[in-house]
Amino acid sequence: MSAAPVRVERDGRVAVVVIDNPPVNAGSAAVRSGLLEAVAAVTTDPALEAGVIIGAGGTFVSGSDIREFGQPLADPQLPAVLAAIAASPKPFVAALHGAALGGGFELALGCDARVAAMDAVVGLPEVTLGMIPGAGGTQHLPRLAGVAKAIEIACSGRRVKAAEARHLGLVDAVAEGDLRAAAVAHALALGGRKRPVSALPVPADAPEAVAAAEKAALKAGKGRPPVVAAIAAIKEAVTAPYGEALANERRVFQALRQSPEAAALRHLFFAEREAAKVPGLEGAAARPVERAGVVGAGTMGSGIAACFADAGIAVTLIDQDEDAVARGLARVKQGYDASVAAGRLDGAEAARRLARIRGAVDLAQLADADLVVEAIFEDMALKEAMFARLDAVAKPGAILATNTSYLDVDRIAAATKRPQDVLGLHFFSPAPVMRLLEVVRAAKTSPGALATALAVGRRLRKLCVVAKVGEGFIGNRLYAAYRRQCEFLVEEGALPEEVDAALESFGFAMGPFAVADMAGLDIAWRMRQRLAATRDPRERYCAIADRLCERGRLGRKTGAGWYRYAPGARRGEPDPEVRALIEAASAAAGIARRAIGPEEIRASALATLVREAERVLAEGVALRASDVDLVLVNGYGFPKHEGGPLFWAGRQDRARLDAVIAGLP
Ligand code: NAD
Repeated sequence: MSAAPVRVERDGRVAVVVIDNPPVNAGSAAVRSGLLEAVAAVTTDPALEAGVIIGAGGTFVSGSDIREFGQPLADPQLPAVLAAIAASPKPFVAALHGAALGGGFELALGCDARVAAMDAVVGLPEVTLGMIPGAGGTQHLPRLAGVAKAIEIACSGRRVKAAEARHLGLVDAVAEGDLRAAAVAHALALGGRKRPVSALPVPADAPEAVAAAEKAALKAGKGRPPVVAAIAAIKEAVTAPYGEALANERRVFQALRQSPEAAALRHLFFAEREAAKVPGLEGAAARPVERAGVVGAGTMGSGIAACFADAGIAVTLIDQDEDAVARGLARVKQGYDASVAAGRLDGAEAARRLARIRGAVDLAQLADADLVVEAIFEDMALKEAMFARLDAVAKPGAILATNTSYLDVDRIAAATKRPQDVLGLHFFSPAPVMRLLEVVRAAKTSPGALATALAVGRRLRKLCVVAKVGEGFIGNRLYAAYRRQCEFLVEEGALPEEVDAALESFGFAMGPFAVADMAGLDIAWRMRQRLAATRDPRERYCAIADRLCERGRLGRKTGAGWYRYAPGARRGEPDPEVRALIEAASAAAGIARRAIGPEEIRASALATLVREAERVLAEGVALRASDVDLVLVNGYGFPKHEGGPLFWAGRQDRARLDAVIAGLP
């Protein structure tokens, strides 16, 4: 590898400008300087008639160095490179393979033509990092794809594969053979003519199509400022002169990249990379996993089986009797049918996935499994008995995992003669959809077993966060504390709908009472019953949820919980019966109800999360603060744009936050 990140090679009358900045050719000040010099060299050399810009190694420019966005940007900046390409009388062709994302795709859009390899993906992920594209992306994309499609692509930040990019006109050709040779031929075929995207008219999209794209993008992006700004910038391609729109785009990009929202999203981006670093695994090799087993074909077990099947791993799904197995398999099929109907999956692929799952009643069918996930009822005695049986049938070296929500994985491991191969794999519901996977390292879990679990988690495309054993691990522990505090607020005077509204206005996807109704109140009820014997009698206890459960109000599935539900309704209505029950509970606890406003609700619920997060860290249940943030954002609907509870806490006036914490029960 040469030290300079950009070099110019010659191919007859075409200069091939090679960006060589391993590992992913990320944009940087050095790359941009190198490009400026290369463009100047091509421009001034009379023996050259065109340039090709290509990436060394496995990719074009996969994006900018995200760390740069939090600091003053070093010169030269990307618009200067694009201006030099535009000003050069000689055409430049971008040759794309691997990923051309963000600034990488903007560089390609600033060229006179684009040739893509079959494996190439292009996209503008800036909005997902709290910004908008800042080097012409919002002006060039609509000129090629139309305003509606540009809104969809830029606001989702999705990766567009070569074939679709060709179809949309984002690339001019897809090279089936050698990319570099194809790009050089394309450059010669231009015959020295410039073809800048900026000179193209913006195709006239039907206003309804633009309005529909806008509406869908705002809905998917929850109306966040970067989405709104990206839409406005793209629409300027039609309403403002090119130069003016370009300057506006840059100005908005500069402002947004320094916004708190962008900082929070960068924090989460880096948090994901950190989470993959687990101390104590140096030199531990992951064991091969070709066949998996899942025990318990209920809500979670059937979803977990689908996760394996989606990843190409054959899986045996077990339940107590034929009927339960059949119901589990039917649930998996239903999930696939829904994906096919929604156009997310093609029918043949769904059938292949389904065929990877075999149902069985006999545990002996797990003898060939490399990894088994247990997802039976949340009951310690049942789980201990199950692990003793699994230990007897599973082959040596097979990993035995539990999907328990709260229980002590050390105790479950002790039911086997292979505690070194036992750990927790805490999936979230619905398992095929939710990215988060808490990987619970028990006291005796070996590095090899943990490495295997993490490797499998990655194959399932999950975001793995390692936790230690402790009631509810990271997520359920924090969430239980938060929900308990919200119940105290209700006992003191707030109504469930007021608490939900206050927290939804902070940005939670759903308030805690709506979530409880959706998940079912019985799981937490069972947990409270289990803990009742060991609970400190002086500890404050709110009995309202127990009263609801005793009346059969187990949530949406029973038509009533904290709210009442019309048949088939997803959203509940406040229920006078619940209000009466709450008021009676307050009176029974000797509490004079008072008005509690949304500010106080938010302050105390968030302070509770922060206090519990700090305890989880102090106890070593979580490895690092950013892991806690990832869990709450990816598993519990904590707003991404706030970066997670501990990132949020870092931005508060600490003395004020401490005062709220000191006042908590
Ligand atoms: P569920 O009641 O939907 O399913 C449990 C299944 O296990 C049932 O089909 C039952 O027949 C089967 N089963 C029970 N005993 C068995 C045995 N001895 N052998 C074989 N099968 C047996 O429960 P669920 O919601 O899927 O939860 C399963 C586990 O996952 C629990 O530990 C729960 O705490 C945990 N969990 C649940 C969620 C959730 O949101 N539901 C999320 C994460 C973790």
